[in-house]
Amino acid sequence: RKLGYAIVGLGSYATNQIMPRIGGCEHAKLTALVSGTPEKLARYGAEYGIPSTHHYNYANFDSIRDNPDIDIVYVVLPNSMHAEYTIRAAQAGKHVMCEKPMAISSAECEAMIAACRKAGTRLMIGYRSQFEPHNLYAMALAQRGDLGPTQIITSEHGFYAQPNQWRLERPLSGGGSLMDIGIYSLQAARYLAGEEPTEVMAMETTDRSDPRFATVEDRIDFQLRFPSGVMASCVSSYSSNHNNYRFHGRDGFLRAEPATSYDGHQFWVHRDGETREVVLPPPPKNQFAAQLDHLPEAIFAGVEPRASGEEGLRDMRIIEAIYQSAREGRAIRLAGS
Ligand code: NAD
Repeated sequence: RKLGYAIVGLGSYATNQIMPRIGGCEHAKLTALVSGTPEKLARYGAEYGIPSTHHYNYANFDSIRDNPDIDIVYVVLPNSMHAEYTIRAAQAGKHVMCEKPMAISSAECEAMIAACRKAGTRLMIGYRSQFEPHNLYAMALAQRGDLGPTQIITSEHGFYAQPNQWRLERPLSGGGSLMDIGIYSLQAARYLAGEEPTEVMAMETTDRSDPRFATVEDRIDFQLRFPSGVMASCVSSYSSNHNNYRFHGRDGFLRAEPATSYDGHQFWVHRDGETREVVLPPPPKNQFAAQLDHLPEAIFAGVEPRASGEEGLRDMRIIEAIYQSAREGRAIRLAGS
């Protein structure tokens, strides 16, 4: 059985990565489109066979309530719009897949979780790497302790952000590289450690004379301390390209580069003086299809999805602590630790 997705926001990620992959899903199909641009609705409606009765704009969005072909709303808008459209979707009785970062504050994340709980609908965050086979292999290796207990994690994520885009406007993005790409370093540290950090320490480096960084940060490096003693050192950058991580155990280490890309993942395990590339059989589904199928599977099973709203909220609370640490120049203990 397949559930119907309405895609909200027909930008780059939705149209180049998500929509072309829905066809490869077992439990997901594309049934509706939401955009403020009539030309995009016409173009993608024709391309994907979505009739005009299933086209919506931001003004009539709430009438999705009356469309039984829409089971799930996938929010692929600028970050500051995630909370509003998640809450409106829940109020229309729909389940929600929301892109990362979940929102621009932990208060918004809490409101999103509350709205979905009240509506009795499920909420999942688009953490695709949690469904990517190489990353799943690395998580399992770390959890089994095959390289000895994990001691150190390093994770670097960054790209050169082009000027003149919403990502560089704080009201729309909520922050700079950390919100956008550094969140992959944070996610990797948490899913490789398999536990929650108790303390963060961060330093920011931003050239404020660069017009790209009038309102958001460029680079922010952060360290996370985990209860077992694992330390993670993470890079987040809008000025240099990085996509890698390592975790070091007593007996060896795993290196991944690219680690969390759309494709082309390369992972190596170093142990006993030898390096072995991790070669996995072709997966039945790519990470996008696996992520898109996971929410329907969780809905059918009546359980919380793996990358739940709570998972997005945990990241947002840590992101807020990272920003606070950089601002105040001191380590921040995380609440509940
Ligand atoms: P984009 O700029 O390409 O698309 C954003 C869309 O939102 C556009 O279609 C735009 O028209 C629409 N929009 C509506 N109101 C807007 C407004 N006020 N200002 C600007 N745009 C407005 O961005 P994107 O790269 O597709 O990112 C969208 C979301 O997806 C972001 O939250 C981003 O973090 C996330 N994303 C996730 C991944 C991933 O790998 N999981 C990759 C890229 C982007």
